[in-house]
Amino acid sequence: MKKPIKPARENISPSDLTFGLSTCKRCLWIKYWYKVIMPGQFPLVGTMASLQEEHFQGADMPTIDPSLRPGKVTKWGEWVKSKPLMVNGVESRWRILGKYDLVSTNDDGTIGLIDCKVSDSERDNGQFYSPQLEAYAYSLENPAAGRAQSVASMGLLVWKPTHAVGDSLENYGFGVFQKYLPVERDQANFLRVIGEFIEVLEGDLPDSGPTCTTCIYLNERSALDNA
Ligand code: SF4
Repeated sequence: MKKPIKPARENISPSDLTFGLSTCKRCLWIKYWYKVIMPGQFPLVGTMASLQEEHFQGADMPTIDPSLRPGKVTKWGEWVKSKPLMVNGVESRWRILGKYDLVSTNDDGTIGLIDCKVSDSERDNGQFYSPQLEAYAYSLENPAAGRAQSVASMGLLVWKPTHAVGDSLENYGFGVFQKYLPVERDQANFLRVIGEFIEVLEGDLPDSGPTCTTCIYLNERSALDNA
């Protein structure tokens, strides 16, 4: 596959630093150079995340977790875009562009970043999501336009569904167990991950992974089409 003169998109999505990098890199490369994106199949994820975000709009931070600095959730669902990312001291063509879930304004002038999840996956730990949250923090601290802000805390707010509730047609729902997982700031790791990511994007089309069921399906399908 030939590389076009320019990538179809030069804005890196924070979520690609977690899910994208955990598989083979071929689909990512195609996404950024050709804007051809594998369709996802997560029918309820958007609805659940929106309901969870809405619930915490205006919330006092210490009521979410006592470890959080005094302040209130003042922003939600806003897009952030960074300055061009630096790789080995040189400005690249790539930027971060993403929409965060919740941001607090803290009494001391700093801000807090919260990523909402409805999930029962063991993978929901701070380390896995650290590069994604750091990408939002990087954009808030190095914005393409406007005032830079200082991110004092980052964390995952996880709702794990545990039981059904309600007793009438209009009143059924799910009860959840809530936990807040602080994610330590680790900008050095983020810069390493984003550097590797950009190196992949600037390189040639990567090979496909040997165990990905999608590629196995596509290869078998293409063999049938050509038989
Ligand atoms: S193995 Fe194929 S479908 Fe799977 S991520 Fe890689 S290129 Fe995409």
